[in-house]
Amino acid sequence: MRTGWLQFVPLPDGFQKIQAGAKAQFCNGALRHFRPAGGKSIAIDKNMCGLCPAIDAGIVGIIKLDGARECVFIPLYIVSGFAFVLNRLCLLDECLSQAHYTMIKPKNPIDCVVIGAGILGLWAARHAIRRGEQVLVIEKRQVGAGASGGFLGALMPHMPDSWNAKKQMQFEGLASLEDVIAELEADTGIECGFHRCGRLMPLVHEGMRNIMGQRIAGANEHWQDKFQMEMLDQPLQDWLSSNIAQYGASFDSLSARVDPRKYLAALRAFIESRASLLEGKEVVSVEPDANRVILKSGEIIHADRIVVSNGWEAYPLLQPFMGSMNNDKSIGRGVKGQAVLVEYNHDDTLPIVYHDGTYVVPHAGNRVAIGSTSLRDWQESAYPEPDTFDPTDMEFYEKALQLVPVLRSAPIVERWAGVRPRNTLEGRGTEPFLGPVPGRENLFALVGGFKITFGVAHVDWIGDFASRYGSPATSYPEQFKS
Ligand SMILES: Cc1cc2nc3c(=O)[nH]c(=O)nc-3n(C[C@H](O)[C@H](O)[C@H](O)COP(=O)(O)OP(=O)(O)OC[C@H]3O[C@@H](n4cnc5c(N)ncnc54)[C@H](O)[C@@H]3O)c2cc1C
Repeated sequence: MRTGWLQFVPLPDGFQKIQAGAKAQFCNGALRHFRPAGGKSIAIDKNMCGLCPAIDAGIVGIIKLDGARECVFIPLYIVSGFAFVLNRLCLLDECLSQAHYTMIKPKNPIDCVVIGAGILGLWAARHAIRRGEQVLVIEKRQVGAGASGGFLGALMPHMPDSWNAKKQMQFEGLASLEDVIAELEADTGIECGFHRCGRLMPLVHEGMRNIMGQRIAGANEHWQDKFQMEMLDQPLQDWLSSNIAQYGASFDSLSARVDPRKYLAALRAFIESRASLLEGKEVVSVEPDANRVILKSGEIIHADRIVVSNGWEAYPLLQPFMGSMNNDKSIGRGVKGQAVLVEYNHDDTLPIVYHDGTYVVPHAGNRVAIGSTSLRDWQESAYPEPDTFDPTDMEFYEKALQLVPVLRSAPIVERWAGVRPRNTLEGRGTEPFLGPVPGRENLFALVGGFKITFGVAHVDWIGDFASRYGSPATSYPEQFKS
C-alpha cells in the first residue's frame, strides 16, 4: 500500500491551476483524500468522489507522487456551485499526452454500477471486478444496512423431491459455498463463519413421515452423493423438543450457516481494495437509455450497465420499466422480519432447527440466532420503520423456545429487524427477479423475494448479469426471468 501526502506540481499549458498548496493522498494507487489549500481534507472514492466546496476556481489539476514519476490528474467540474473531484482521466488523456508522466489510469468509463450493498449487490460487484471490469457500488446507507445485515445466516435447501431448475440452481449454490467462501477468505483475510452444520426439521404428524421417502430418494438422486437426507426417530433430544418432533425429524447434511456480517465485511474488503464503494449516496432514478443513474445529491453516474440490487427498495426504481408487466400495479413490496441473538454455551456441532417459518441457527462463539422473516402488516404497526425491532411481536421467539426449550434460559444479547423483498408480479408468484429487465439490455434486476438469498448470491450466472451483456447462462432458471 502506498500512502503519503502529495504536492501539486506545475501544470501543463492550457490548464488552470488549483489553489497553491492543495494536497492529495493516495492509497493503493487511487486518490483517497483531497485537501484544498487551507481547507478541510475530504475523503474521495476512486471514481466518483467527494464534494469539495472550498475549491472555487479549479478546472483541472495535476499532482505528482514525490520522488516518483507517477502522476494522477484530477478533473474538477462545477455543479450547482459545488466543485466535484473525479479521479478519472475522462477527456484529459489526449490533452495531456505531451506531458511527462506515467498515468495511474483507472478503466474508464465505469462498466458496471451496482445499486445497493447487500449480499446480492456485493456479489454482483465481486463477479464483475474479477472479470476485470470497472465497478462502482452505490449504497444509500452503509454496507449491510438492509436485510442482509442481520445474524441468522441460514443456508438451507429446498426439499429435494419434485426437482426443478430452481432447486438445481440452489443446490449448486449451496454445494459450492465451501470453495467460494474459502476463496473470499483467502482474498481478504476475513473469516466468514461458514459451517456445514446440517438442519433438523421436526415431523409433527404422520403424513410428514410418509413423504420422507420421496425426499430421501430425491436427495439420493440429486445431491450427488455428497449430502444426504435421512429420517431420525429420536433426533438430538437435548436440542429439538420431542414434544414437537413427535414423529421424529428429517435431517439434511447440506444445510449450513454463515455469519452474515462477517461475510459482508469480507465482500466489502474485497470490493474496496479493487473498486469503488460509495456509502451514504441514494440512487433516485435509473435511466438505462442514457446509461446513467441519478443520485439524490444531484450527481449523475454514467455506466455501461446498471445493476439494481437494492433489496425491497428496488421496486420504485424498477417500476417504470416493469410496471407494465403487472398492469401498472406495484411489482413488489417489503416483508419485515425479526431476529434475536442469544448467548448459549455449545460446542458448535449443533444443527439448524427449522419449522414453520421459525429459524434457530447456532453460530460460533456461543451464540444462537432465532428469527422469522414474515411479520404481517408491519407498515401499519406501532413500529413501521424497516429496521426497528418490534418488541410487541415476539411470537417467533416463543415458537423457537417451544422448538428448542434449552434456549429458554439463554439471555438475549441483540435484537434486529430487517425488510426483505417480496415480488408481486402477477402469474409468477413470489419468484425473484434475477436478470435483464425486458427490453433494456443494460438494466439488470437482482431482487431477492426469497429466503434463500445467502445460499445463492454467489452463483456464476448472477455474476454474468453484472458483468456482461447478452443471454444468461444456461442454468438460469426460467422462474427467475424478469
Ligand atoms: C429477519 C430476516 C431473516 C432472514 N434470514 C435469512 C437467512 O437466514 N438466510 C437467507 O438466505 N436469507 C434470509 N433472509 C432474506 C435475505 O436476508 C434477503 O433476501 C437478502 O438479504 C436480500 O439481500 P439483498 O442484497 O437483495 O438486499 P438488502 O440486503 O436489503 O440490501 C439492499 C441494500 O440497498 C440499499 N439501498 C436501498 N435503496 C437504495 C437506493 N435507492 N440507492 C442505493 N442503495 C440503496 C440498502 O440500504 C441496502 O443496504 C432474511 C430476511 C429477514 C428479514
